[in-house]
Amino acid sequence: MTQKQNKKLQRPARMKLKMFGYMAAFIAIVILLLWVFQIVLLDDIYRQTVRVESAGVTSAIAVASKLDSDGFRSKVYNLAAEHSTCVSVFEIAGTKGREMVSAHSQNLCVIHSNMLGNGFLADIYANAKNTNVYVETVEGSATGNGSILCAKVVENGASDILIVVNTPLASVDATVNTLHLQFGIISAILLIIAAIMAFIISERITRPVAAMSREAKKLAVGNYDVNFEGGEFLETAELGATLNYAAEELSKLDTMQKELISNISHDLRTPLTMISGYSEVMRDIPGEMTAENMQIVIDETKRLSTLVNDLLDLSRLTGGQRKLNKTVFSLTECVRSTIARYSHLSENDGYSITLDAAEDITVEADEMLILQVIYNLISNAINYTGEDKKIHVSQTVNNGICRISVSDTGEGIPEEKLPYIWDRYYRTGDFHKRAVSGTGLGLSIVKNALVLHHAPFGVSSTVGVGSTFWFELPVLSDKNDK
Ligand code: ADP
Repeated sequence: MTQKQNKKLQRPARMKLKMFGYMAAFIAIVILLLWVFQIVLLDDIYRQTVRVESAGVTSAIAVASKLDSDGFRSKVYNLAAEHSTCVSVFEIAGTKGREMVSAHSQNLCVIHSNMLGNGFLADIYANAKNTNVYVETVEGSATGNGSILCAKVVENGASDILIVVNTPLASVDATVNTLHLQFGIISAILLIIAAIMAFIISERITRPVAAMSREAKKLAVGNYDVNFEGGEFLETAELGATLNYAAEELSKLDTMQKELISNISHDLRTPLTMISGYSEVMRDIPGEMTAENMQIVIDETKRLSTLVNDLLDLSRLTGGQRKLNKTVFSLTECVRSTIARYSHLSENDGYSITLDAAEDITVEADEMLILQVIYNLISNAINYTGEDKKIHVSQTVNNGICRISVSDTGEGIPEEKLPYIWDRYYRTGDFHKRAVSGTGLGLSIVKNALVLHHAPFGVSSTVGVGSTFWFELPVLSDKNDK
């Protein structure tokens, strides 16, 4: 591993620490929220609650004022006791007020200690007269924390009934102190739990990750006998399965690459040996500089260049470098010209290549690649056809799709071998007739070229009868259709 890679690996923090950090941050946010609501806003929330409650008691007494005097009296006592508040109800006639009922649940409330001076009742009455329920916070009264004063006026014939409710406010300091202490203890406990949880969770995640990382290092040095175990989490289990798949594919690729290299070197060595052998003979032995020997050297050189070209074509096609260069051309003419290239075989060796094409078909495709497809299929048919040396090429059109089929009368291909013939260097047997030299790459080039065109292709073969290779391209109905 390079230093740069090492540095990259060291930089990230350990998972345990990170996880603990996240959990601690989460706990801090929760404690902060609790602190804001429980401590900072405690006094305001408490005062608001008391205001609402006192106003409720005042309204309830107002409703009860319609009862008879005993019922009313007992209702006032009950409400005052229930809500720990002080209640005074006055009958106001003119400027005078007469106390009708008085319930005194707290020691020093503003009504009963009359600490707000003589005009106090008159002021309350004036304020309450104009509102539904008059509510006021009286600061610094006898309890030291102030109190909530509520008042309501109920009309009662000639006189008015004034209901005054006063609830002293308790001090929240003691509660705040208790909460401070509680928050301290809770935070400490939560942090300890967070540390333990961070340790347990990260252990469960990191253990399989560390094991997979060890296996991946083996893979990096070419050891494909590895097993990635992802542990109990779905994500790490999926990662393990993906890595196992990748290892399998890498191993296959490695084997294929080794086979490819040995096949290529074998195929390169044979013509090279012939060329060097014949050249030395021609140089050293007088009279061997014949046209036949020269022809062998030329043929073998051609074979070499065909092989190198095929290899280049295939690597461009499979490597994604080869982009389609589509043009409009006559597919039928393409087939005709390819057949014409083999005219010497027909004339000299008795091969018969027939074409059955009712019309001239125009397609839009990469002409060079399609030409190569047709060439490879026909040269295979020549290589593998039977004793009658017959090859038949047919062009059929169905629903705007043109199918080119190349049939021979050879030994055919066993069904179980059919799926593999398109692979690089796959050979079903050793029955090459070698009328045209083959490199073992022909069908692989055909497949890659047609896949690039998204064109359907296939083969049907009967052992002892022959094979038919075919491919399809959409017909360009009018040449101006483009
Ligand atoms: P090769 O140079 O060996 O012909 P190809 O890739 O063209 O390489 O073909 C792969 C294999 O498919 C051939 O070795 C042969 O076994 C089989 N094959 C291809 N075409 C035919 C055919 N027309 N008849 C029988 N077998 C064929």
